[in-house]
This record gives sequence, structure tokens and C-alpha cells, in this order.
Amino acid sequence: MPVKLFSLCCILSFVAAAPAQTLSSSSGAALASDPRVLRAMNWLTTNVPWITEEQVRITEIPAPPFKEAARGSYLKRLLSSAGLRVSTDSVGNIIGLRPGLSSSEVVLVVAHLDTVFPAGTDVRVRRAGARLIAPGITDNGAGLAALVALARAMQDARIKTRQTILFVADVGEEGEGNLRGMRRLIETYRQRLRTVIAVDGSGTDFVTNAALASRRFEVSFTGPGGHSWTDFGMPNPINAAGRAIARFITLRVPDSPRTIFNVGEISGGTSVNSIPYRASFKVDMRSEQESEIDKIEAALRAAVQSALEEENAASRRNIVNAKLDVKIQTIGVRPGGELPEDSALLAVVRQADRIVGNRSRLERSSTDANIPLSLGIPAIAIGAGGRSGGAHSLDEWYDPTGRELGLHRALLILLGAAGLEPSP
Ligand SMILES: [Zn+2]
Repeated sequence: MPVKLFSLCCILSFVAAAPAQTLSSSSGAALASDPRVLRAMNWLTTNVPWITEEQVRITEIPAPPFKEAARGSYLKRLLSSAGLRVSTDSVGNIIGLRPGLSSSEVVLVVAHLDTVFPAGTDVRVRRAGARLIAPGITDNGAGLAALVALARAMQDARIKTRQTILFVADVGEEGEGNLRGMRRLIETYRQRLRTVIAVDGSGTDFVTNAALASRRFEVSFTGPGGHSWTDFGMPNPINAAGRAIARFITLRVPDSPRTIFNVGEISGGTSVNSIPYRASFKVDMRSEQESEIDKIEAALRAAVQSALEEENAASRRNIVNAKLDVKIQTIGVRPGGELPEDSALLAVVRQADRIVGNRSRLERSSTDANIPLSLGIPAIAIGAGGRSGGAHSLDEWYDPTGRELGLHRALLILLGAAGLEPSP
């Protein structure tokens, strides 16, 4: 027993200091045999039905972009009942404090509150066999339910950690939220922050250790507008937007580094017989290499400028001031970054995978982990277990069968990062 305990302490405290290579293959067994850890894992297994019902309740509280407050207050209750001291910061992040031996070293485990779905979307959960179907049921109903479950399991097992853990339900992960919740958390805790673990979506087959850089723009053409019959020939913002898009999308991007662009939204005009006074569209660009995004942005700007000149030149009327204007507004910037493969945090993930008998691959993605990764703070995103499909669609589904594997894995990763206090 003393031998076991000794090795356990070593394993659980290595994250901050020791290089990953010192991990021995027996370390996983030691972590898995700690009675408190076993108890917490057991709590997760036996409470799967409760966790799934909470996931349903969370999902049925709408959380459109920038309107996460109602779901946030429910999470506040759940985290409070897990014994955490819970506060809300100025941007709406719900922060549950679980003090460790050290208050100067903090692990952040975070699940985002927001969905991509606008206000008014029907978020009631339908059931088909084992499947739960609803917008946001997986992304991030699964992550939020896991966040609460981890806190409850650790409370039940009376686990004490070396580092302080913040269980956070944060705002603004999706789209134009532009990671504002995570940006604020980093501002607040940067000096003490040792690790960030984002729990996002389902599955256990990946660990996101690299941040996919992205940039997003809204292009808006404006003009005087007019009547389709009497003002024919006036420059038309929709025409200009069409020209700009048609030029821009001919851009060639490399397969490696993988690079993409997407025109994802278009709007403008008021009626079929009016020359519109405004037309706009939104573009998303992502690449494994940030310099490729610079090229796409340059191509977009050039296409927009040419489109503006073309449409103005094509104007059939010589009206003073009947010229279009254009504005290109940056609506999102997500920096890139990468956690090295030999990092201590990835060693913790591999250890957790060994213990639960899981295999996972490294993945690059755009998540809350982008911000810490871009600043060199060890960060990952993991799934919460279970299976899913149709992400970001109205038919998004989640199957909780076997979700305990993902919960156990997340617990072991969290404890590996925060370090267990030695048993009395
Ligand atoms: Zn998500």
C-alpha cells in the first residue's frame, strides 16, 4: 500500500513539473486503484440516468448566441448543489470554485453554455429509442451535463486536489460569440492558470490539442436604393455582393495545410421591386496555418474592391452620389496554437485512455481551447462520451449509451491535471 500511495502521489503531481517521459506504465493502475477515484467513477456509472435527464433539462433552456443567461442561472444552481462556491462574472460566465491545497494554481474545466440556434428555435427534446433529438443536445448539452456530473462525483467521493479547480459554464463559444467567455476567463485567471480542459460535444475518440485559426468577416455594400422601374440603372448592393462572392469563391486554397473558406450568410433587400440600399454577406476562413488565412483575407478584400468598382461602373444612370460604399467588418478572430505531443497534459490524457481502455487521436479544431493554446497555456478539448450526429442542425442527436466511458476519462484527465491530495 505505501508503495502504491507513493507512486500515486508522484503521478498526480507530475503535471506541473516533471517531463512526460517519466510516466511509467504502472502509473495508470495506481491512479485507477485509489479508493476515492474508484468511488467517483462508480458515482458516474450509477448516475448515468440522472446525468442524461439533466442534459435534457439543460438543452430545453434556450441559449442563443449572446442570450445564455437563463441557461446560466440553471447551471449556477446545479453547480451550487455540487458543493461549489458559484459566482457570475461580468460577461455571464458561471464559475464554480472548488478550492485545492493551493489557491495559486488553477485548473479550468469548462463547457460552453451557448448554442448556434437563434431565439425561437424549438429546443424540446424528442426521443427515438435510445436517441435524444434536439438542437444543442450534444453541443453542448453533453458537455454541460458532464461538467455538473464531474463536480458531483468529486463531491460524493470527497476528493481533494492539489490545485484549485474552477468548474465553468462559459458564454460565447460559438460563432460570433468569438470566445468572449474564455477570453475573459483568461484575463481574470491568467497568472494562476495551469491547465484548461474544455468539455465539448460527445465521444472519446479524440483529444483536441491544436487550435484551428479562423477569421470571420461581414461585408456590407450600401447605396441610395430606389424603385426597380423608375430608378433602373442605379448601382445595386445585391449585384455588388453577387459580383464579390462570384470572384472570391474562385480562390484556390491548399489541401495541406488544410485551409477552407465559406460564405455562410447573405442578407439584404426589402422587396422584389426595390433596388436595395443594403446587402451583406459573412465569410468564415480557417487554416492549419495562420499565414494561409492572410492570403484568403487579401483575396476577399481584392474581390470586394473589384466588385464595388464594377457595379459602380456598370451604373446606367449618372446620378450624383449614386455610388455604392462598402465596409468590411471583422466579426471574429480565433488565434491558432498547439500543445506539443510530449506535453505533460497529453501524457495525462494517454494515461486516462489506458485506464479506461480507450484509444484517441489528436485533433485540430476551433474550441474554447484556442485562446489558452495561443498564449502557450496547456489546454485541450475533449468529448463527454456517448455518440452523436447532426451537430449544429435541427436534427442534432445524442445517444447516451456507454457515456460513462467518456465521464470516467474526463474525470481521470481532470484529476491528473489538478493532482490528488495524498490520502490521509
Ligand atoms: Zn461546442
